[in-house]
Formats: sequence, structure tokens, C-alpha cells
Amino acid sequence: MANNDYYKTLGVEKSATKKEIKKAFKKLAMKFHPDRAPEEKKKEYEEKFKTISEAASVLGDEKKRAQYDQFGSGGGSHGHQGFDFSDIMSQFRFGNFGRNDDVFDSLFGGGRRRRGRQVYKGSDLLYDLDITLEQVHSGFSTEVALNKLEHCSDCHGKGGKNITTCEDCSGSGYIKVTRRTPFGVFQQQAPCNSCHGEGEKAKEVCKDCDGEGLIRDRSKIDVKIPAGVQDGMRLRVTGKGEAGRNAGPHGDLYVRIHVKEHKFFERRDDDLYITIPISFYTATLGGEIEVPTIAGEATLKIPKGTDSETIFRMKEKGIPHVQRAGVGDQMVKIKISIPKKLSKKQKKALEDFGDTKPQKGFLERFFG
Ligand SMILES: [Zn+2]
Ligand SMILES: [Zn+2]
Repeated sequence: MANNDYYKTLGVEKSATKKEIKKAFKKLAMKFHPDRAPEEKKKEYEEKFKTISEAASVLGDEKKRAQYDQFGSGGGSHGHQGFDFSDIMSQFRFGNFGRNDDVFDSLFGGGRRRRGRQVYKGSDLLYDLDITLEQVHSGFSTEVALNKLEHCSDCHGKGGKNITTCEDCSGSGYIKVTRRTPFGVFQQQAPCNSCHGEGEKAKEVCKDCDGEGLIRDRSKIDVKIPAGVQDGMRLRVTGKGEAGRNAGPHGDLYVRIHVKEHKFFERRDDDLYITIPISFYTATLGGEIEVPTIAGEATLKIPKGTDSETIFRMKEKGIPHVQRAGVGDQMVKIKISIPKKLSKKQKKALEDFGDTKPQKGFLERFFG
């Protein structure tokens, strides 16, 4: 094994954090992925990709890194012998780059090792949350209670103590099964039952979790809902999903928002629409009216001679935008209430007002 300096290979400091190592690897792996190589440089890229993958597989794994720091490369104690590059390469095929970090995590978690226990990321969870429009307007924090898998506190998710190579499969995780059929004898590989295909198992099995390393428990999770969320939106709460097997990392929790219908307001994007009745009197002579908004009462000026169905915009009385600064508006649609009962005096006043026959001009225009 060549005496590589893994830190130099990845171009990071000896003190680099796991995150920095991951970032450096991602950048180099993108650059030198054999899929990206010009035809004449295929070999060169492949070599380079192998070198950086090997460096990342060691520096990305805390245990291997510590060993490397102590003994250097080629010591044989860390696990790059048997390191399967074609496996990594196919995992890191081009389509896999980009947002999805899972492929990187699987390498950095010591993911697909030939031997030894695989570390699994826990499942993501989905939680449906009903909220009111008022809550959308203000944003709020809530506590979500769920039953989910957590690491057993007694064995720290490892399932027991003294984790050693499985004797039944000599650590390969597979056993050979011979099947006799009328067509001949077939040998097949099957996962080892004794270690569940992991090649290692705990000698002292944890009693609290029966060696599973996981316990289903009721958990309370604080969830912050930002103002302006929309119906159907999913908010990710990182690391609050289920715990992973073999002390693996947690999945994520997704909170899916359901906004309850409001009795009076209709939401369109971040604007709120409401219909307000006003009197014939106010519509004709103008005045100020009280209008409910999502944040309480506000005053709206009605100009004289306002028609029914007129829409007034009340600036920034709507819902805050969730991904940028600013607030939507409230749109107020006027509906003129026609009085159904009149006193004698009111009737007389209206008769004095007379019939202005608005349809007269209209009919003249219609029939030309
Ligand atoms: Zn346990
Ligand atoms: Zn086994």
C-alpha cells in the first residue's frame, strides 16, 4: 500500500472537521468521477477517484481516522484492504450527486463494508399537523408527541457488549445453503441468521432491548412553525426521526401542514379575502368602517359613492411571506346591504330621494 497522505490527497488540514472532509471529498469526487473523464484520461481519473475515495473512507470514519493519525497509512489495521471501488463508484454515479447527501453519509458512516456491522440510518417519519389561519399568520412553536424508535439507553443502541465476529459465518454475514432439486444440487448464499447478515454480534446481549439496540418510546419534539407556511408544506426537523440500527443516526421528522379553513377569510397566496357588508347610507355618503383582520380590528375608509362589489386593498394586513421578507395584503370586498324594513320616516326620505333610474342610460347605450 502506497504511503499516501490522506489529508494532502483531500487538500484539508489535519485538524479538519468531518464536515470539511466531506465537503472536500464531494468536490473532488465530482471533479474526478470516471463518468466525467475525457476518453483519453479515463485511467487517470479512475486512479484519482480511487485515491480520494480511499482517503475519504479513512478520514471520514472517526475510528479509522484515529488509527491513521496514530499509525499512518499502510499499517494494515485500518480497513481499506478489500475496499471496493467499483461499489463506491456506482454508488456515486453522477445522478446521485447534488442534494442527496445520503450517498456520502453511507460512505462516511462506514456504510457498505464487507465485514462488520453495517450502520443504518433510522427511518424518516411524517407527522400531520392541523393549524389555524391565525397560527399561520403569527407562526408558533408546538410540541409533537410520537411513538418512535430510540436507541436503547442501556447498550447505547449497540444491542449489547463485546461485539465480536460471528462464529457461524466467520464474519462474512452469509452462509452457504445447499439445495437439492431434481435438476441437480445448487449452492446458494443466504444471510446468516445468527448475526442477521452482519458478520458481527454482541456476546453479551442487552436484556433491555433483546439485542435490538432499539426501544419504542414516546417522544416529545419541539417543532417551530414559521409564519406564512402553506397548506401541504412539509417542514423537516433534522435528526428527529427514528433511531438507526447498530447505533446508527436518526432519520428526519417531516411535519406536514394542514391549514384549517377559516370561517371568514379566504387565502390566495399570502393575500386574505373577506366580504364586508356596509349600509346603503355609508356607501352613498362615505365614512369609516371597522373591518376585522387576521391580527384584530382595523379601520377602512369608504369613499362616497362606493358601488357594491368594490374591492379595497388593505396593505400588509395579510399573511407574512414564508421564504422572503414582506407581508401579503387584505382584500375587502364591499357588499351593500339593502334595508328590508323601513320606518315611515325613512320611507318618506327615500321617496324624496326619488328613483334615479340608473338603468335608463344603460338601456340607451344597449339599444344605441
Ligand atoms: Zn439495549
Ligand atoms: Zn453470522
